[in-house]
Amino acid sequence: MELVNESQRQMGPKERECPECRSRFPADPRYVQWCDKCGWNLQPNPSLQFANIFDFLYSILGEKLSRDVFDEMVKSRSLAPSWTLSRVSALLFSGFIHGFALILASSGVWLIVGPGPTFFTVVGGLGLLGLAWTARPRFGRMPTGIVRKDKFPALYRIVDRVARALGAKTTDAIVINSEFSAAHEQVGLGKRRILYLGLPLFSILNNEEKVALIARELAHCANGDPNKGLFIGSAAATLAEWYNVLEPEGIWPHEDRPGAGRTVAQAQFYAGIPEAIANLLMHGVACICYGAAFILAHLMYRASQRAEYLADLLAAEACGTDAVLGMLEKLHFVDTHILAVQSAASASGDPCPDYFEDLKKRVAETPPRELERIRRIELLEGFRLDATHPPTPYRVEFLKVRQVDRGKATLTQEDFEELHQELTRIQPAIQKKLIDQHTAALYCR
Ligand SMILES: [Zn+2]
Repeated sequence: MELVNESQRQMGPKERECPECRSRFPADPRYVQWCDKCGWNLQPNPSLQFANIFDFLYSILGEKLSRDVFDEMVKSRSLAPSWTLSRVSALLFSGFIHGFALILASSGVWLIVGPGPTFFTVVGGLGLLGLAWTARPRFGRMPTGIVRKDKFPALYRIVDRVARALGAKTTDAIVINSEFSAAHEQVGLGKRRILYLGLPLFSILNNEEKVALIARELAHCANGDPNKGLFIGSAAATLAEWYNVLEPEGIWPHEDRPGAGRTVAQAQFYAGIPEAIANLLMHGVACICYGAAFILAHLMYRASQRAEYLADLLAAEACGTDAVLGMLEKLHFVDTHILAVQSAASASGDPCPDYFEDLKKRVAETPPRELERIRRIELLEGFRLDATHPPTPYRVEFLKVRQVDRGKATLTQEDFEELHQELTRIQPAIQKKLIDQHTAALYCR
């Protein structure tokens, strides 16, 4: 008789029945449980969320054009940003939008203070001023959570050296946050450069991959992305804002739409007509904004996708292709991160389990089944980590075509050891934030 103790029984493979196709699959609670037969729960946390109308338009364009841009990039001799016809057209079109916003503002002022103002002209004037206000240039503010240079000297030193290897300007400030991502932006009139590093993602990268992530973000300063430029970028932001403000949730103001049931009182029906007409008018203007966004997105798409490939390549030149490929692969561990947060939040006891150790362990022990799930997600038609980046398989193939064996950034083991100590100090605060965010999200549901 085979003796199995309790702990072995718990460790043993568990199975689960698929709610869709009823086949059975092995279920490891530390990873996403999904069915390899029918694809049930393949992607429990879809990463592609549309922040605005441009993200949505880019995702549609991506489905049609990402292959074209990829082929173009592989064949292209010069990758540097250049003055193409669509780039010049995007600049002119953006000028038209900024100019239109100025006309709105001056018309609003004229309606309010011009000859013979009435109640209606004042209301109309205020409406126009409101729309013009949404088009004001946004320079952004300095974010919270900046880590100080005297407390994180190794982090700043590494970022400086990576910037030097890229030939890019270094960052003015670094924010360490609880996101599973990284970002870079310029804020204020002085265009101060801010690098955002999400500690959950950063903590699962090896030293070379950490350099790759930093290089990838800093490269955005040197790759000529029109989205990041103030003139075109703020025109796009204006259109997105106008569309958001103007597009009504529905044309008819009540839940019981006409024809939906005889229960709608006639009086209620007639009372809704003026609002429905106003909604219809707003919808019409929102459609014009959608059309303008559609044109601008078409003009910018190729340049912005080229900029993303170029940022990957610049990063490879700083730290080597293998490091960028390793970093790209780890971007797909977002579901493992979410499960590790859930596990840390639901665990009771003092001291609290270490989320960062747990996450690293889960990533290191990733079973082939989880890798297969990630591979299948990558192969989903048109799948991207987000709407503005090219599909990962194209990015990987492009990097392999232009293999860089050795990066230019020179960093020592001591640099990374010091960095490790600095990041370890901030881990408890980030873990607390992750658990608080998770708990708050549960209460919001
Ligand atoms: Zn199934």
